[in-house]
Amino acid sequence: MTTEAVWRGGSLGDHAHAVLAPNPGPMTLDGTNTWVLHVPGDDCAVVVDPGPLHEGHLQAVLRYVEEHGARVVLTLITHWHHDHTESLERWGQLVDAPVRGGGYGRTLVDEERIDLESLRIRVLATPGHTADSVSFHLPDADVLVTGDTVLGRGTTVVAHPDGALGPYLASLDRLHAVATERPTALAPAHGPTHTDAGAIIAAYRQHRLERLDQVRAALAAGDVDAPDVAQAVVERVYADVPRNVWPAAKASVEAQLAYLAV
Ligand SMILES: [Zn+2]
Repeated sequence: MTTEAVWRGGSLGDHAHAVLAPNPGPMTLDGTNTWVLHVPGDDCAVVVDPGPLHEGHLQAVLRYVEEHGARVVLTLITHWHHDHTESLERWGQLVDAPVRGGGYGRTLVDEERIDLESLRIRVLATPGHTADSVSFHLPDADVLVTGDTVLGRGTTVVAHPDGALGPYLASLDRLHAVATERPTALAPAHGPTHTDAGAIIAAYRQHRLERLDQVRAALAAGDVDAPDVAQAVVERVYADVPRNVWPAAKASVEAQLAYLAV
């Protein structure tokens, strides 16, 4: 279902375009996707997650907007993590537009509608990866911008204690309902786009429930009595995962233990 073997950014329909930031890593996959939301012919563009502090990346985002005859009138943030927000101070010097989300500017409200010329954005509060995570639905383009709540490849981290599994599962249910009302494409903050967001979200939910079962089994197998329960569970359940992502896996396990009230 991956649209490209190697993701380098690009357009998803004609209302959304990802400029890929040069910050690849185990947690950021190919790097952070900075999404430019713009309807052809409009003067206004919205930028989601300017990303890491990298001058060339910010200039590439601005170049894309200018080449399309638009200017940035609003910057939206999917959540506070640094790979999405680190450049905001520099971005504010380059762009004269308000910033909202991730603790910046006026708080984004669930089901808020943001209309700018022909561009219509629906805000969905989707806590779980972090408490402040939001997604953006473009109803006219049938696109879901999901931040780190749903990624283009692999799974995301529910970063306990800021993130929490109960809200995360509820957010996946909500996104799944939106994505299956009409065929909807996925615009994640990391990794490639997908034409069928509903299928990806359903797979995410399935994966979470399977991991929960594995954690329950690990606890039953004796990890519940380990001096560091979360670490013992990681070593058993995530044995197949590269060790450089074990710290992230441990955060996820802690979220699962909190969910199971261990
Ligand atoms: Zn994140």
